[in-house]
Amino acid sequence: MIVSGSLELKDYMYEMRRCMRCASCKWLDHIYMPDNRFVYRCPSYAKYYFSKVAYGRLKLGLALCEDRLTDTPGMRDMVFQCLMCGACDSGCKRNLDLEVTNSLEALRGHMVEGGRFPQAHQKMIDDIAGSKNRYGAPAADRAKWAPVNAAAKSDTVYFVGCGASYQDQAIAKATDKILGALGGYMLMPGEQCCGHPLFALGHYDAFQKQMEVNMAAMQKTGAKRLVTACAECYKTWKVDYPRLRKISTSDLPFEVVHISELAAQGVKDGSLVLKNKLDLKVAWHDPCNLGRMSEPYRHWEGGRGKWGCLEPANKFGAKEFNRGTAGVYDQPRDLLAAIPGVQVLELKRHHEFSWCCGGHGGVPEAYPDLAAYAVDERLEEVKAVGAEAVVSGCPYCKGQFQAGMAGRDHQVQAFDITELIAQAL
Ligand code: SF4
Ligand code: SF4
Repeated sequence: MIVSGSLELKDYMYEMRRCMRCASCKWLDHIYMPDNRFVYRCPSYAKYYFSKVAYGRLKLGLALCEDRLTDTPGMRDMVFQCLMCGACDSGCKRNLDLEVTNSLEALRGHMVEGGRFPQAHQKMIDDIAGSKNRYGAPAADRAKWAPVNAAAKSDTVYFVGCGASYQDQAIAKATDKILGALGGYMLMPGEQCCGHPLFALGHYDAFQKQMEVNMAAMQKTGAKRLVTACAECYKTWKVDYPRLRKISTSDLPFEVVHISELAAQGVKDGSLVLKNKLDLKVAWHDPCNLGRMSEPYRHWEGGRGKWGCLEPANKFGAKEFNRGTAGVYDQPRDLLAAIPGVQVLELKRHHEFSWCCGGHGGVPEAYPDLAAYAVDERLEEVKAVGAEAVVSGCPYCKGQFQAGMAGRDHQVQAFDITELIAQAL
């Protein structure tokens, strides 16, 4: 029996065996990317070459499952020098429909269970357990960014997240202004980390604990909608929580939306008016966790028959695959284009083929060389299209861009989309 979204490595034997090392997880189809300079999709492969790509990791997982490998020097680096960005999954599903991201997640979990994970991750794990945020900052400081428009009760909860609460409060303030213009909101009483770092690092038991606390807190508010301006929180609430509960996103008792979805709807129906002119040429960076990684989760159970065909065995019907195409792509572009004076340019790798900024998967903490390489590559792309600013929808992308700018000759500005919308209101 196959249960979609399983976190057990042995449940991905088909994927690990069937991977034929075709390398679609490594680079983009040449017909869609005539520019050879930006042809890679996997940052880990582009930096390290050899087998540090999805297929190398799948074969490593296979060898572990078949007891052909116990432990080797470098195995830990092989698994964790990966941004968990999902670019490989979108590439593989152009050919084979293998669940590559799920396999990599299960491989991480397997390594963590055996205690084989980078020690550089331990601090964040301890900080979330102790202070309930990824920085180890005092829990009591979480709402110190001074919300103006928050009400005691509302149908909309703004889940701020650790990044905007502690590190980049401009995003929280801008979101407060936008939500104020859209009719108000409430904060989640006693908000804690959503647990996203724990999931991305492969610490699923600890993640489950965060999930239970947050789901209970959300249900206690009685709100119908949870809105976030963080791509990582968005994916966690929309995809990972239902997945661990073995339900589909559509079965959640509340709606999960990114602020760009809500604001784009507001512009469309006239409740949000963007009137201030901002003369700026911007490039929209699709965050992995807002795009290809955040398609609605659809729970499925079934089996594999002849030739590996999936056989719906029960009420779940045929399996629907997530191929990265149904993420949040149009709304941020529409929003930016609606700001007077803003010209929106397309980066060369966009939508489900977007290049990761390098800020994910515990890579900045354990392998800063890979994080720096990935963001530098993205900034080269921003330069190549002639943009003056790179805009994203996640505090961690913006932080990566700002960090990556240090020491570069070619400077561009980095914004979160909420900041530009708030300026234009
Ligand atoms: S695209 Fe899929 S089948 Fe091809 S090498 Fe990568 S993981 Fe294997
Ligand atoms: S998740 Fe990203 S970094 Fe990891 S193997 Fe896939 S494409 Fe490469």
